[in-house]
Amino acid sequence: MIEAGKRTLYIRAMTAALSKSDIAKLVKSTADFCTANGLRFTDSRQHVLEIVAGAKKPMGAYDILEALGKFIDDPKPPTAYRAIEFLMEQGLVHRIESLNAYVLCDTDHRHAGSQFMVCDSCGTVIEAHLCELPQDLESHVKKQGFHLKKWDAELHGTCRNCTIDS
Ligand SMILES: [Zn+2]
Ligand SMILES: [Zn+2]
Repeated sequence: MIEAGKRTLYIRAMTAALSKSDIAKLVKSTADFCTANGLRFTDSRQHVLEIVAGAKKPMGAYDILEALGKFIDDPKPPTAYRAIEFLMEQGLVHRIESLNAYVLCDTDHRHAGSQFMVCDSCGTVIEAHLCELPQDLESHVKKQGFHLKKWDAELHGTCRNCTIDS
């Protein structure tokens, strides 16, 4: 499903929660994508997408489950987890390992690598996605005969706002 495109770098602060109309557009395009690819876009998958897209900060699974309760009566953890899992497989949602939380992918192209700048002060996450491995790293990987599947990375530091504040 994930295809590396040309080298592209898009950056957007992911703390900017999507507006209602942008979420509606995202839901529509995701529904179309699922139809075209024979995937089921269930209610819980849609609601979890809306929840993550409307969040100002990366959301933990428990918070997503709690928010899902506004849409579905007494949702069970596996319902939330399966929906998150599906959205991750489709590249719509990313997991930030060091925060144990999820964010909306900020691009509409499928990318093989995800790099996240995580602000340790305010929790802002900014996504960059280099679709091609930087050359220095690529030569190391080749030298080791390593078979690379994805090149996700989390970069820690402070965002622009927090750097100015301190
Ligand atoms: Zn992404
Ligand atoms: Zn910050």
